[in-house]
Amino acid sequence: MKVEIDIKSGFCFGVRNAVEIAEKALRDGEKVFSLGPIVHNDKEVERLASLGLVSINHDQFRKLKNCKVLIRAHGEPPETYSTAEKNNITIVEATCPIVKKMQSGIKDTWEKYKMNNGQIVIYGKPGHAEVIGLLGQTDNQGILISNSSDTDKIDFSRPVALFCQTTMELNDFNSVKELIYNKMKEQGVLDPDHNLVVKSTVCGQVSNREPHLKVFAREHDVIIFVSGKESSNGRMLYAVCKSVNPDTHLVSSSEEIEKSWFDGKRSVGICGATSTPRWLIENIKDFVLTL
Ligand code: SF4
Repeated sequence: MKVEIDIKSGFCFGVRNAVEIAEKALRDGEKVFSLGPIVHNDKEVERLASLGLVSINHDQFRKLKNCKVLIRAHGEPPETYSTAEKNNITIVEATCPIVKKMQSGIKDTWEKYKMNNGQIVIYGKPGHAEVIGLLGQTDNQGILISNSSDTDKIDFSRPVALFCQTTMELNDFNSVKELIYNKMKEQGVLDPDHNLVVKSTVCGQVSNREPHLKVFAREHDVIIFVSGKESSNGRMLYAVCKSVNPDTHLVSSSEEIEKSWFDGKRSVGICGATSTPRWLIENIKDFVLTL
């Protein structure tokens, strides 16, 4: 049986950057806390925990003083930085540069829009860490939409600047954009060509993988998609593979693999999310080869 690893799978640039920053901080021998799991992948979190990285939640963070806390790739709202300053916490900054740039874009837009009765709209998942960080740039006045019916929250008689969580599906974002445009046009108070500003902030590190994964998934009899169950882009990219190859299985570790999946199959493709470490994908390949 032929077993092939997708050449593009493994950490995206932002997650790789965050993990390298964590490893460097841990080399100093000092205890480092990570505000939330550094990556949506339990195996990688376990590996970094063995090097001394301690994951904490926001309640625990608020009680800390005089220590080092890593901000993961998803970023954090301004409130987190004020708490750190007040409690003499040294921030180890590992926000993905792409997210950081979007945060400052939203902040600048909000400063202008709030003077002109404008609204910041973010298309994303409720409660997702990146979204919380983005809404924080608007003093939590931004409007979060996660589906088409949420567009009812928007006042179409006021200007709108639309942004998107980096890991949302590009086609879905384009549909939401079109819906907002049409609703603004229908209401006829404002011309959407001038009063709807759209920033397509879907990250290329995710969206570029979609067409590539479709080809990869079609080329193999069975696909093993390796991802933490919490990973938003993992669920999305798994669905992309499953849509073209029904014999696609989502696993987070080799223990979840069933031998029967490979009965009568000649080729297996192994791929993963932007939060799946390459070493884990390689371990899965080694495991499949032993079956
Ligand atoms: S998916 Fe894109 S924005 Fe998100 S961490 Fe990776 S590189 Fe950064």
